[in-house]
Amino acid sequence: MEEKTEHVKCLIIGSGPAGYTAAIYAARADMKPVMYQGLQPGGQLTITTEVENYPGYPKGTQGPEMMEDFKAQAERFGTDIRWGLATSVDFTGPVHKVVVDEKTTITADSIIIATGASAKWLGLESEQKLNGFGVSACAVCDGFFFKGQDVAIVGAGDTAAEEATYLAKLCKKVYMIVRRGEMRASKAMQHRVQNTPNIEIIYNTSTKEILGDKTVEGALLVNDKGEERQIVVTGFFVAIGHQPNTGIFKGWLNMDETGYLITVPGTTKTNIPGVFASGDAQDKNYRQAVTAAGSGCMAALDAERYLASIGIH
Ligand code: NDP
Repeated sequence: MEEKTEHVKCLIIGSGPAGYTAAIYAARADMKPVMYQGLQPGGQLTITTEVENYPGYPKGTQGPEMMEDFKAQAERFGTDIRWGLATSVDFTGPVHKVVVDEKTTITADSIIIATGASAKWLGLESEQKLNGFGVSACAVCDGFFFKGQDVAIVGAGDTAAEEATYLAKLCKKVYMIVRRGEMRASKAMQHRVQNTPNIEIIYNTSTKEILGDKTVEGALLVNDKGEERQIVVTGFFVAIGHQPNTGIFKGWLNMDETGYLITVPGTTKTNIPGVFASGDAQDKNYRQAVTAAGSGCMAALDAERYLASIGIH
């Protein structure tokens, strides 16, 4: 297959809130950004329903609609938005190379990474079917919809513990389903969960099926002795970790042991000059649309200053 090469001033990889916000700023700064949207155009918000915590939408909005708005705003200022997945990179020289769909090579003076992270799922068919209809991977986003109701959360790390206590403040009862006989979360977080009266921890148990036709009505659990138990819940949260989408940067960019890109504190600078990281690909703590958007803005400003510093206007 014939290989195409194109040079751009600013390449944005990924199209969630971080990518689109970076695009809005970069386009308005005349950096002529080109964006490759990746596997899931619009990112994680396209698989949620109602978004009520993004400022500026007093009545709330739908995740997919919000991302269409972000996209339209990025396009309004001339961002060149394209289908395509970055499949490899080469950051050897001062001009950075990115290969898209294994065939098109883009060289770029500056790169903004906004590839996000993906929630890990249990892999049940019922989980997929009811995703967005009671099944969620984000308690902070969706917990509010289950106010006063009974919910379940799967996981035993710091995220699950934190989200279980968050849900316990809103919901009547929270079942925390832990697959082993102990939790991985820090002792402090475990104590907080154990001392919250409306959280029932169910150890040595996994989820066989999430029940319900159109919305979640319960879950079928099975313990390590093979005994089954049914719980009645209207919300089912999965908090078994996230995977940052940073595989193609391995060996080029500094990342922590779980793959989150490491940036210079207070900036979006990576260890490669001209390559900036924003959004969930570099944030395992906050992971909110609004924080991702904020760091996308930072990345565009950092890239603009970088281009000026190397004499590219
Ligand atoms: P972790 O990888 O730490 O924990 C994932 C949890 O999910 C584990 O308990 C694991 O069980 C469980 N799990 C994985 N797969 C399954 C499955 N198929 N079925 C049931 N359970 C499953 O992810 P977190 O998102 O909790 O945390 C990520 C990182 O972020 C950690 O380093 C954490 O410390 C940090 N963090 C820190 C916070 C803070 O300090 N405030 C808040 C949130 C996160 P098992 O233990 O059996 O492997």
